[in-house]
Amino acid sequence: MKVPSAKKRVVLLGATGSIGENTLRVLAAHRDRLELVGIAAHSKWEKLAAIARQFDVRHVGVFDNQAYAAARADAAAFPAGTHLVGGLAGLVELAQLPEADTVLVAVVGTTGLDPALAALAAGKDLALASKEILVLAGKFVMAAARKHGAKLLPVDSEHNAVFQCLEGHPQAGVRRIVLTASGGAFRDWPADRLAHVTPADALKHPNWSMGPKITVDSATLANKGLELIEAQCLFGLRPEQCTAVIHPQSIVHCLVEFNDGAMLAQLCPPSMTFPIQHALLHPERAPGVDSALDFTKLLGLEFRPVDEDRFPLLRLAKQTMVAGGVAPAVYNAANEVAVAAFLAGQIPFLAISRVVEQTLANVKNFEPTDLAAVLVTDDHARRVARTFLK
Ligand code: MG
Repeated sequence: MKVPSAKKRVVLLGATGSIGENTLRVLAAHRDRLELVGIAAHSKWEKLAAIARQFDVRHVGVFDNQAYAAARADAAAFPAGTHLVGGLAGLVELAQLPEADTVLVAVVGTTGLDPALAALAAGKDLALASKEILVLAGKFVMAAARKHGAKLLPVDSEHNAVFQCLEGHPQAGVRRIVLTASGGAFRDWPADRLAHVTPADALKHPNWSMGPKITVDSATLANKGLELIEAQCLFGLRPEQCTAVIHPQSIVHCLVEFNDGAMLAQLCPPSMTFPIQHALLHPERAPGVDSALDFTKLLGLEFRPVDEDRFPLLRLAKQTMVAGGVAPAVYNAANEVAVAAFLAGQIPFLAISRVVEQTLANVKNFEPTDLAAVLVTDDHARRVARTFLK
């Protein structure tokens, strides 16, 4: 049972990453409305200790075993009386903290799946930034949210934007949604130049400052592919209703087209504080952390079609949506393996899509009836993907 409180009490999983840092800016600006009660990170425990001191947080989780041991050995770094937990079990415990109202899951990859399901089972509102969770197990996450009557608030900027545009509009009136893509680091690069891309090139994103995995995914447009799958699942759409367009300025985050051809769009500057604040304060609106758009200056908004020949990972993502079953999970697993190999200098940039395509062709698709089957497939797909790295 949630204890009624004037403030919303927030648990932040992934406190030291890029989403985490922006969430802390939102929390610091709205201390009268939001209270941080639990934090966790993969391994940066010293940073967690600093956050715990700054926000007076008493529940802290460290995922990595070695880092957890180091944190325990230096307990004086944390506020007196800090409850320190470790590993995945620790993250799950934080996701179910009795005093929490909202759990924001912003951990890299699919590590956040168990904590996300635990939060929903405990009836917490789930603010979800880790798109891989829905790509892997969307059917089961959505079912858990329905079963426990929990609110699922998308934090990914495009999905938060769709959520805002759809509010108050019956689903039957929606023709399609259009997610915008900046186009990533290689938006204007010709196909032959893409063969020689280095990890350093791929990590230069034109508009957003994010972690390395998602920045590479933006450069390959796999990020947009994952987002289309995420949107289909979050909003209960058919594959053909989920589309993408290149929009280099990253000001318009989505467009929703209704049956009559009218479109609603959501606009704000490219800072994650906007969707994070919307999700945490929903349905309240309060002054933002970053400045709004300034129309006293020239503001050009440009849209162009996506070139799926240069960026085959978007085409492959659409194919997995049509195929259904575990295909999106296989796509995600193979992409994670391939991106890690690219960042480690083991495979060239263009091999990322090849590894994903080959993995999809070599893992049998089926309709999973339980989460365990999806996790087994995820593991299998990673092993298959590794055989294509050579
Ligand atoms: Mg996004």
